[in-house]
Amino acid sequence: MNRIVIESCALAKDTKKCYSQFSLKTAMTTSRTTERPPVVVVLGHVDHGKSSLLDFIRKTNIVAGEAGGITQHTAAYEVIHTTKAGDEKRITFIDTPGHSAFQAQRERGASLADIAILVVSAEDGVKAQTKEALKAIIASNIPYIVAINKIDLPAANIETTLNSLAENEIYVEGRGGSISYAPISAKRGDGVPELLDLVALMAELQELSGDASLPAEGIIVEAHRDPQKGISATFIIKNGSLTKGTYLGTAGAWTPVRAIADSTGANVESATFSSPVTILGWNALPRTGATVKVYDSKKEAESAAMLSEKREISVPEQLEDTNDMTIIPIILKADVAGSLDALAHEVAKLSDDRVSFKIILKDVGAVGENDIKRAGGDNRTIIVGFNTKIENGVRELAERVGVTIETDTIIYKLTEKLEALRAVRRPKRMVEEQHGTAKVLKLFAAAHNKQVIGARVEEGTINNGDTVNIVRRGEAIGKGKVLELQQSKQKASSVEQGSEFGTKIESTIEIAAGDQIVAFSNIAR
Ligand code: GDP
Repeated sequence: MNRIVIESCALAKDTKKCYSQFSLKTAMTTSRTTERPPVVVVLGHVDHGKSSLLDFIRKTNIVAGEAGGITQHTAAYEVIHTTKAGDEKRITFIDTPGHSAFQAQRERGASLADIAILVVSAEDGVKAQTKEALKAIIASNIPYIVAINKIDLPAANIETTLNSLAENEIYVEGRGGSISYAPISAKRGDGVPELLDLVALMAELQELSGDASLPAEGIIVEAHRDPQKGISATFIIKNGSLTKGTYLGTAGAWTPVRAIADSTGANVESATFSSPVTILGWNALPRTGATVKVYDSKKEAESAAMLSEKREISVPEQLEDTNDMTIIPIILKADVAGSLDALAHEVAKLSDDRVSFKIILKDVGAVGENDIKRAGGDNRTIIVGFNTKIENGVRELAERVGVTIETDTIIYKLTEKLEALRAVRRPKRMVEEQHGTAKVLKLFAAAHNKQVIGARVEEGTINNGDTVNIVRRGEAIGKGKVLELQQSKQKASSVEQGSEFGTKIESTIEIAAGDQIVAFSNIAR
């Protein structure tokens, strides 16, 4: 479809009919490629100022209202930047969250984007998450610009920051490299226009292009279920155009396009590449990061959704505990799909060699009765709700069936709770803890696997009841058990380093003078 078709059909009474009249095939013969605005992702270490920068650019203030000061919302917005040369350039920003808990989204963000801005604080220099972000940028093969932020602070030092970048193999212009950088203050706005000029320049160099005559294709950045309105999803159009009256299909979900909301929430008739758009009316919750495409009919969109869904269905996992592995079935709930993915990413990191968190359900919305049902009476199950409510009566129901519910508005508080649970449920392993050695001086008597010997403690303590390893010429030859201990002809419960003692040991091994006895206890750890 070309722009003329889009615009004229948008005005028609029956948009759908109008499009079918201009069949796609005919319309596509008029296809043309034009300059495509860049999609930009802002990455960097926590607190280095990503949200502040995105905020400054958007001219709103979302930082103050965020729980725990962490960005917990993924969306995207468009700005028009007037360059120094006076050109008006459209730029789309992905509003990716800043906490490391959102790594999943960040990685996705980077793959969605054409250009990355790596924010580095001029106070702190390169930090762990700066390196992680750089890795994600390199993996997604997109160019990037460094924003040296917080230059308004007295402790800011651009020189030191540049050195820190070089130490991490980020060689900027004028320092033996070609990476562009801009010193900025996201708070006051200094240097931000120059940074956006660099973005515009980089987009030009990349020769980003798109074909508005094609049906839209994009990537879901956020999905949300509202009890009243239904399911809405935001996606960024990577190519083509979206018009009302068509259908959209993604893995496991489809929707008619009845209305198109732009990034400000305003209703628009059509949208084209690099614009974030929100569509309401999905039959199921689309997955963030999934591709979405336009289809002409409901039937096509529906079957595309089913086909791609089938490919993604996973084999049900084994949920039985074993001797040394405990399974914790977990149900994740969150306010939006983006947070759900981030939470799942964090949970995946918590499994270790003895405790495995198995996600049995991920869903958007409040914790409800259905989630308890999904636990299936398995009282090992934990329901984790991030930024979401618990429906009335559900906590009581959970208590009755023994299912745990934990909710919070801060991700790391939830992971801390899961870590505590992991410690409690970790299966104990019996380990041998050595606590003394003794040298056998003499064998006094032996009968029926019981031997009476004289020995001297070389190190540590030997206790009555200890299990012992019998070592001959440095090699363990068998095990035994201390049945009795005597020191100075008196019964003793333990004997200390340096003392000579008599002991009755039960063992199938014939103990001889010169052997070593290594005593240990079995401890559950
Ligand atoms: P994020 O975690 O990377 O998104 O970082 P934020 O944007 O939330 O910023 C972390 C803190 O640094 C907040 O208190 C901001 O107000 C502050 N901050 C961010 N940019 C600047 C800046 O340019 N100058 C100053 N003085 N403070 C800043």
